[in-house]
Amino acid sequence: MNKQLRVELRKLYGSLQGELVYRLKRPPRRLYLRVNTLKTARSQVISLLREEGVEVYPDESVHDAVYIEVKGPYTLECDTTKRIVVDDKTAVSLLMGANLYRPGILKWSSFREGEKILAISRNGVPLACIETVLSYHKAFNIEKGLVGINVCSPYRAPSIAETSLYKNGLLYPQSLPSIVTTHVLNPKPGEVVIDMNAAPGGKTSHIVQLSFGKARVIAFDRSENKVKAIKATLDWLDLNINVIAIPMDSRYIHVDLRLQNKADKVLVDPPCSNLGVRPVMKFNRTMKEVIDLSNYQKQFLKAAYHVLKPGGILVYSTCTISMLENEENILYAVNELGYNVVELSENPPYAEKVSYKGIVGYRYSPLSYDMPGYFIAILSK
Ligand code: SAM
Repeated sequence: MNKQLRVELRKLYGSLQGELVYRLKRPPRRLYLRVNTLKTARSQVISLLREEGVEVYPDESVHDAVYIEVKGPYTLECDTTKRIVVDDKTAVSLLMGANLYRPGILKWSSFREGEKILAISRNGVPLACIETVLSYHKAFNIEKGLVGINVCSPYRAPSIAETSLYKNGLLYPQSLPSIVTTHVLNPKPGEVVIDMNAAPGGKTSHIVQLSFGKARVIAFDRSENKVKAIKATLDWLDLNINVIAIPMDSRYIHVDLRLQNKADKVLVDPPCSNLGVRPVMKFNRTMKEVIDLSNYQKQFLKAAYHVLKPGGILVYSTCTISMLENEENILYAVNELGYNVVELSENPPYAEKVSYKGIVGYRYSPLSYDMPGYFIAILSK
């Protein structure tokens, strides 16, 4: 890990930093899914998944969350010299035992049907041994679909993507802190809710779900492709209700769209250094990137202040653990932008309260619970 970044993390975790890094390199034991409660009940999902052979459990504290268990670590064996490079999202699923699908592939070497190849991440970490079900030529010419079966990986979790419930949009894979973020936002029917960083639509769809499709939701992300991803998620979950998705740089919506004092609730879930995402493949972030991201995130907080109605609520969340992107940004929001910090009467499930120079936030620490690192703060205008 970059030396300056190590110093930054030591501020928070002190001598436990080594243990933190150890945990971040491993997946949490529980992989969470959100139940689409506008279409089904959690008890129904649990019994139907069990019928399909997937052991799934209800979370003890979050009513629309279920989880499956991750087993391992196992030794990764793969007798081959052939390699295939996959994108970051696919890398994590392969590491957990998922099969290889066409869209995740970045670089190929040629192969025959039934041949073994080693899937690796962009930075060369071995992920899984894949037995191909197609030849290279056939695989190259398809846009979607199965390319190979995962025959050996360091971790194994039941494959949800192949269940009928997943295909029918009754479940959405999401980390527990992400699920909790929208509960903290608590969108209500009739409210105007602005999601400033919405793609691929995980929290946008949850906003629709929790407001029974009766909140008026405006979802922004920075490009047409990102907006397509939001719409694809909403359509898949059948939650495309009362949502306008707009491709736009949301740092300037108060100026470009003259959105002033319009929103009851705003969600800022900006790009971050992802230092809490587990399992991390390689610590290759630099301190400069963390500083740049922190400055970028401040700009969303600034725009959000303009678009919120007086008395409106903002929820800020990141899947990272650096103070610059979390506590320091909330301090900036209070001291420089004029927000008030909101303290909840009860901590969100599995989170711990952080008090820092007069502000309050809620941190998910992999050291306290076997969860990703994450941060949530609530502000009012
Ligand atoms: N909230 C999303 C969800 O739950 O599915 C995840 C959001 S992800 C952490 C951050 C998003 O911010 C990315 O989709 C990224 O494209 C978007 N983003 C980055 N810069 C942006 C900008 N200037 N305006 C709007 N969105 C931006």
